[in-house]
Amino acid sequence: MGQLELLWEYQQSDVEVYNLNRLIKRSPKRMKLLKLRDSLKEQQALLKSIEDEVLAMVDRSDALKDAVSLMEDQLKQLQGRIQENPAASSMDVQGYMDEAARIAGSLDEYDQEIRNIRRSATERDKRQRDIKVRAIRSKQEFDDLRVEYEIEYKEKAEELERLRAIAKSKMEGIDPEYLERYEAIKQRCMPPMAKIVDGQCGGCNMGFPSSVLRDIKSGRPVECETCGRLIVG
Ligand SMILES: [Zn+2]
Repeated sequence: MGQLELLWEYQQSDVEVYNLNRLIKRSPKRMKLLKLRDSLKEQQALLKSIEDEVLAMVDRSDALKDAVSLMEDQLKQLQGRIQENPAASSMDVQGYMDEAARIAGSLDEYDQEIRNIRRSATERDKRQRDIKVRAIRSKQEFDDLRVEYEIEYKEKAEELERLRAIAKSKMEGIDPEYLERYEAIKQRCMPPMAKIVDGQCGGCNMGFPSSVLRDIKSGRPVECETCGRLIVG
């Protein structure tokens, strides 16, 4: 058998390996597993961002508590000042009232913000719980499906090993140059070889000029000008 015929025989097995590999990669169980893995990652990322938000809210709450006690101190100082220096004029009264109003205003503002933070925290707690429940469900589904997929994969992987061994044995006697050429064409199209069918390329149906046909018949390795496949006569 010539090199091209040997290579053609090798291709038969290589195509079987290729097809089974593709079947494994496109298994619906595998696709579903990948999808579940993605959604688990998404849920983890969501939980992380909520945790970060909660941490930021805790920091802000602490700052607000400090600000509130500062204002309370100012209020006490103001009361002390009023007791020591009671207002002697309407201007004094106005001054004390303005200061008290400023402090009360700030306290109101802080109080409002603290309430808002509490509300957000409650809402985030609920979201966190919902996401955790969903994540547990997804994880369970993932684990169950993984067991099923592993059984399916094991069977197919054994078959794949068997086919690979056959393909490998068919490489024997083939010139490495031919194998390299085959692999290079395989990067562009699979299968990389085609037979002549009625004077045309069996891969893309383009007709060959008679000079090219003669070359092919003589056993020279010729690549189809249209699809790039290596042609076997
Ligand atoms: Zn072609």
